[in-house]
Amino acid sequence: MAAAAGAAAEGSNVLLVDERPYLGGILPQCIHNGFGRGFYKEDLTGPEYSRKEAERFFASGASWLSRARVTKIRPDRIAEIISPEGLFHCLFEQCVLATGCREKNLYSLEISGSRPTGIYTAGEAQEMLNLGHYDIGNHIVILGTGDIGQIVARRLVITGRTVIAMVEKNDHIGGMKRNRDECIAAYHIPVILRATVTKVHGYPRLEAVTLQHLDTGTREIIRCDTLVTALGLIPETSAADSLKTEAGFPGWLHPCGNAAHVHEIVDSVTLEGLRLGHTLGKAAAAKGS
Ligand SMILES: Cc1cc2nc3c(=O)[nH]c(=O)nc-3n(C[C@H](O)[C@H](O)[C@H](O)COP(=O)(O)OP(=O)(O)OC[C@H]3O[C@@H](n4cnc5c(N)ncnc54)[C@H](O)[C@@H]3O)c2cc1C
Repeated sequence: MAAAAGAAAEGSNVLLVDERPYLGGILPQCIHNGFGRGFYKEDLTGPEYSRKEAERFFASGASWLSRARVTKIRPDRIAEIISPEGLFHCLFEQCVLATGCREKNLYSLEISGSRPTGIYTAGEAQEMLNLGHYDIGNHIVILGTGDIGQIVARRLVITGRTVIAMVEKNDHIGGMKRNRDECIAAYHIPVILRATVTKVHGYPRLEAVTLQHLDTGTREIIRCDTLVTALGLIPETSAADSLKTEAGFPGWLHPCGNAAHVHEIVDSVTLEGLRLGHTLGKAAAAKGS
């Protein structure tokens, strides 16, 4: 939204294409506070921050195509788009790739056992809890102690569920200090360090996990009905990966925000997007295109 608004403010004709039915990417599901302390000098929730960005976006005159997925960005500067209205092609001069990150899932680790229901990435769990209001389970193990895992753990406790433990392979808890204070310490969430999950049990629903302690090699079985994985993020650029060479992406393709690298704080995503949008818009105006 920031890049689109920046370019449109310089007079460019901008189309924002997003597969979701709403604007804001990950923000609407992040109903906790902690957004905007840098950029807006306010402590906002994700939806509040998203609304501010949307206001600027709509005021800029940029257009928005929702529920539309870009399946491929071609070397002839055509985006192939699929949407409920059908398939179509969009010809462009410059493309900002603001496709965010995808989450590593459990099966990116060496895990044995069945593939039962009850295993979610932290982002999936957050979306189901906060936007879908689904009951994702009651006795939960969380694998990984980064920021997203901690925020989801706190939400699970607030909504009355039992977080049996957060499990971490390192000898220290991950994430930012403010999350360690405001989530793990404030909500007394148990953490098991130097351990990992090596096996899942149960079918069709998860019934337990095998925990392996990395220093001693000992194993224990922990009964649980839900496993949430918070194993890290990978920039999502798959629509454009075929364009990548050793020199990187072509000069007209601009990865931005989490698609460029993982940003802990949304304020820096906004700043980067705005700057990029204005730069691209000014260059187009100078060319008269
Ligand atoms: C749980 C969690 C907690 C966080 N807490 C904080 C916090 O307290 N404070 C803070 O400042 N920051 C926080 N962040 C970080 C911040 O939210 C992100 O850095 C920022 O929102 C990323 O923005 P983005 O636009 O790069 O990506 P995203 O918000 O992920 O947006 C990418 C969009 O692209 C869409 N998309 C992807 N591929 C395609 C495609 N091929 N076609 C069409 N659409 C596509 C996606 O559906 C999505 O809508 C948190 C993040 C998470 C996940």
